Amino acid sequence: MPLKRSEKTTMPVREALARAHDFEEVNEGYSGFHAEFEAERCLRCQDPVCVNGCPVSVPIPEFIHAVKVGDMAGAAKILRSANPLPAICGRVCPQESQCEAECSMTLRFNPVAIGHLERYVADWERSQPPSVSAKLTRKEKIAVIGAGPSGLVCAGELARLGYPVTIYEALHAPGGVLRYGIPEFRLPKEVLDWEIGLLKAMGVEIICNVIIGKTITLDELLNKLGYSAVFIGTGAGLPQFLGIPGENLNGVMSANEFLTRVNLMKGYDADADTPVHVGKTVAVIGAGNTAMDAVRTAMRMGAERAMIVYRRSQKEMGARVEEYHHAMEEGVEMNWLTNPLEIIDDGEGWVSGLRCQKMELGEPDSSGRARPIPIEGSEFVLPAENVILAIGTTPNPLLTRTTAGLSVNKKGCVLADEKTGLTSKALVYAGGDAVTGAATVILAAGAGKRAAHAVHEELAKRTAQ
Ligand code: FAD
Ligand code: SF4
Repeated sequence: MPLKRSEKTTMPVREALARAHDFEEVNEGYSGFHAEFEAERCLRCQDPVCVNGCPVSVPIPEFIHAVKVGDMAGAAKILRSANPLPAICGRVCPQESQCEAECSMTLRFNPVAIGHLERYVADWERSQPPSVSAKLTRKEKIAVIGAGPSGLVCAGELARLGYPVTIYEALHAPGGVLRYGIPEFRLPKEVLDWEIGLLKAMGVEIICNVIIGKTITLDELLNKLGYSAVFIGTGAGLPQFLGIPGENLNGVMSANEFLTRVNLMKGYDADADTPVHVGKTVAVIGAGNTAMDAVRTAMRMGAERAMIVYRRSQKEMGARVEEYHHAMEEGVEMNWLTNPLEIIDDGEGWVSGLRCQKMELGEPDSSGRARPIPIEGSEFVLPAENVILAIGTTPNPLLTRTTAGLSVNKKGCVLADEKTGLTSKALVYAGGDAVTGAATVILAAGAGKRAAHAVHEELAKRTAQ
């Protein structure tokens, strides 16, 4: 199809029916021709408002201009100056509500495809020999708890500033949600492994299978193991449940459990230690990114009917628009305005269906979204052999409960200064989902970066005294 200046250059994708049954990446990436054409669409506005839409203020017109003139090394350098995880963010950022929502082109046409261009530049960078610059110049050791995007970025920044850094990770592989949550068909693990390889080349040590708060405590890191400061990047991995009858039946899982078992523990392999059984019909409750990942994974695991069940409408869903479109193309069924009331027992302790009620939308509630109201007499049963809950997560209290003097809010999120990440405990910083509750990769990465600089400032001040 001929490309048009008024329209965003479409991302080439794999054919829906073929891709819906394997875990290969769906998006194929721009060619050089696509990228140059799309870069030409950028207006280079005097006041580039797209930059305000990006949580880490990527110099968007500058990196796009570098693509336009063929200076890929320059584009990669500009991008990385603001965003430490460009290949990941180019793939998973909700651009439609961030940078691209602000793009001046949206006044008349489609926005510039900032995310697709970001991915193009970052993938070019990955095809080059890695350039690593970090020199140990500081004596103070820093501990980072959690190897998700906030912890990885914090560790990378501190290593660049000259500190010896150790990341302690509870699971057996680093990456956090990027490893165990977001599936391979959206974010290939080789992209994550490349970033982690850079950190290791900079001297960052990653120790897996260590739960801080259980294996060792945070206070022991500071007082016994000699760390001068600690960054908490433990995320929000504790799943929430609805509290409806039947949630303890066989065949019911949280999306976190389901995705972790498939992505991290090879649950798709019948010979794995904990294989995942997926029935012919799977209902996923929720409509955020986690729900879309779970439903599309269920389809790839063999479900013949994979369904979203959500009590509001498509307008209120939290998933990235691209994920929603891809799910629809792959044949996922959407049950909007449908509230689950009970998970039905087949008589032998396994799930056989989901009793639901239809809803209609009323006035906005405290979240600002239209309130779903039950419609009398509209109950019905959806057949389902698995029910997967993707209705939100909160921080795991394990670390906070075992750390004296660390303040949390009512939801269990660590209280930390917005600019520096400093918590109620001296020399202990925090960022990412552990502080904000479930949010986004770029917000977590930004918080990790800010905290690294705050740690550096504090330690430099203490050395100077
Ligand atoms: P996490 O990524 O959760 O990492 C925390 C790490 O800390 C984990 O590895 C955990 O094992 C470890 N840990 C926890 N407790 C301890 C402890 N006591 N000791 C040692 N280690 C510990 N965001 C987007 O921007 N775009 C998307 O498309 C998107 N899709 C998503 C899909 C899914 C399925 C999920 C679950 C989330 C998605 N998100 C998405 C959200 C995004 O992934 C998170 O906001 C982000 O990963 C948060 O980063 P973090 O570093 O704070 O925590
Ligand atoms: Fe847009 Fe995310 Fe890149 Fe910022 S980091 S420019 S929000 S894609």
